[in-house]
Parts: sequence; structure tokens; C-alpha cells
Amino acid sequence: MNAYESARHYFETAAAVMDLSPNMKKLLMTPEREVKVQVALKLDNGEIATFVGYRMQHNSARGPMKGGLRYHHEVDAEEVLALASLMTWKTAVVDIPYGGAKGGISVAPKTLSESELELMTRKFVDELQDVIGPDKDIPAPDMGTNAQVMAWIVNQYEKYHGFNPACVTGKPLELHGADGREEATGRGVGLLTEVMLKKFDRTLADATIALQGFGNVGSHAARYLSDNGGKVVAISDISGACYDSGGIDIAAALAHVKQHRSLEGFDAEKRISNEELLALDVDVLIPAALGGVLTEENAGDVRAKYIVEAANGPVLPEADEIFRKREIPVLPDILANAGGVTVSYLEWVQNRQYFKWDLDRTRAELARTLTASFDKMWQLATEKHIPLRTAAYLMGIGRVGRSTVLAGI
Ligand code: GLU
Repeated sequence: MNAYESARHYFETAAAVMDLSPNMKKLLMTPEREVKVQVALKLDNGEIATFVGYRMQHNSARGPMKGGLRYHHEVDAEEVLALASLMTWKTAVVDIPYGGAKGGISVAPKTLSESELELMTRKFVDELQDVIGPDKDIPAPDMGTNAQVMAWIVNQYEKYHGFNPACVTGKPLELHGADGREEATGRGVGLLTEVMLKKFDRTLADATIALQGFGNVGSHAARYLSDNGGKVVAISDISGACYDSGGIDIAAALAHVKQHRSLEGFDAEKRISNEELLALDVDVLIPAALGGVLTEENAGDVRAKYIVEAANGPVLPEADEIFRKREIPVLPDILANAGGVTVSYLEWVQNRQYFKWDLDRTRAELARTLTASFDKMWQLATEKHIPLRTAAYLMGIGRVGRSTVLAGI
């Protein structure tokens, strides 16, 4: 299954438990607006490059639409649409007053220079500026984008609309960003891993963890987990994976990546492949890189006792079913990685109130929001004897459905 089929499958599974009518299902799955634009620019060498950009606005029943912008060569309309629908359920699961959207450009950002990346971003904003905005749709970082890209977005948007820091989140601190936003997704993953382990009478201190992906999400998750006593025995990036039975020195790994931009050459007990990492005999496996990494083919090899979906859509439905049969709980993406959008919301709130919070306040609010959402999901899963993912979808779809009906169709 591809990303779209997989998002659809998870929606349908929950909709069946909820006994949603076909008409209601159609209403909730049909995106409100699909934007597809040409982004053409002159490269540094004078050549013309043409890219395709998307902004899929899935649902605004609960508030302005919200979701990241992805720069990746595999971005296409279906994938962005699938990710936009995940954002709708995700914002509803953590009960922040947003709908869901997602955007992206089909481009390998590493092939562009800094100035080409800036020009491409500005031209993309030129195309989108009338459909996004603080009360309409608020972009944020995702794969291949970061605070610098958000800075270009806010600057370009303001050329049309005047001072408007709340038009995008994940901005640099110097440009109305929120302290704690950059770490938020990974920190949330770490925090929720701890909360989940507790439900099984386990603690981080007696847990071994394998983490796939050492980008923004994976590295901050690793930091939280190891700072709080967890033993992260494996980490990976595109250069491959590192394994250390005594636990990877995360501070050293972070310093290495800062200097060399990858884990290549990092001194660990041994190097293993990404596939070997997924099959390690650990307590917790955290896929924090691409979608679709756990499949029908490799799900049987997984030896972890718990899985935490830090990436969006890393477990395909066929693998999810195998894990269900093997009684391996999967903490679903729409809650596991919701820390990012939760602190995006806190950034937006600060921007709109012209009032800056300190890091402790943001972290406390993040922990409160995620823990409360987890407890609710857990209770629902226990009461109805359904997997955690289905319970999370029930919460998300239920909230969006109720807002839709209350507002009137
Ligand atoms: N891209 C992130 C996600 O998938 C964050 C979105 C946001 O902060 O709006 O949840």
C-alpha cells in the first residue's frame, strides 16, 4: 500500500468501529481544497528549473488548517494528501483548535544551493499567499525544511500582508519563533515512550531502544530518552546504522553530526544496516525517518516489544496487522509525533498575543497535552478492546465529525 491507501485504510478501520455512514465518510475524507502550482526559477548557473509544489487543505472543521511543508524528491499529490488527512486527525487527537493540511515541493533540496532554495521558497509563497495565513492555513517545517525556510516564508508572506508572524510556525527564535519548537516533536516522542512504558509497568531506565533516523525528530527523541535513563543502543541515518550494546553516547553522536553532517565515521561498537536495526532485540523500536519502512516483508523480523511511530506513516497496514497479531503495541504517529504541532500551536498563540513564554512553560504545556491525550486514547483502547491506533483515530474522527455536524453542513 502507498501512503494514501494506508491513510485511507486506517481511517476506514476506525470508521467501521464508529459505524460511520458512507456519506459521512465521504465528507470527512474529501479534501476541502487541493492546490498544485508551478515553481520555476533560474538556477545559479543560469539554467531554468521547474518544480511542482502542493498545498493540500484537507479539513478546517475545527479551525485554521495546519501542517508542514516537505521538500523531498518523492513528494507527490497523493502522498501530500495522505499526510494532510493525518494532520486533521492529529490536531484533533491532541485537541488543539486546528484542521489539517500539508504541502510540499517535489525536489531534492540538497541539490540546490542556499540561494536557489530561498528563491524557490519565495516563489512557492507567491503562489500560495492568498490561500494560507494565520486564520486560514499555517505551514510549518517537515522533512527537508527547517527554521530558515520558515523565515523566508514569513518574510515573503509579509510582503503581501504586512507584519504577520503567526502565518507560519517553526520560525527562528530571532523571528518570533518559540523556544522549544525545534525539539518538540522528538521530545514528545521521548515523553510518550516513557508514558507508554509506564502503562506496562516498565520504566525508561530498564529499556533498550533502537531509533531509525537521526534528523530533527530522531535526534531530539534520542536526547530525551538518554537524558531520562533510557539506553539507546542503535541510531541511524542515510549513512547506515550504529550499534552499541552499552548504549550510544548520544551527546557524542550529536556533536559528530553537527561537525560532519552525518553519522558517517562515528565511533560505535559496530556498524549495522538499517534493516538490521529494525530487527534488533530491543524493548522499543522508534522509526523516525521515512514513511513505509515497516512492511509485510520485514514486520515478522521485528523483535522489539513496543513500536513508537515518530515518523509519519512508518508502519504500513499489512505490518500493523502482523504487529497486532503478535501483540506488539504500536503507538500511532497521529499521537506519537504530535508534539511538533502542539508546540506550533503554542508558538502561534504567543505570536497572536505578542507575549513570549519561557522554555519551562512550553515544555510543561507540551507534557500536559500529550499525556492527557495518551490517557484518553489508552482508556478508549482498553474499554473497546481496540488497538491504540484505532482508538486515536476514533478520538480524532469523532471530534472532527462532531464539529462538522454542530456547525451545520
Ligand atoms: N510537520 C509536522 C507534523 O507532521 C509539524 C506540523 C506543524 O507543526 O504544523 O506534524
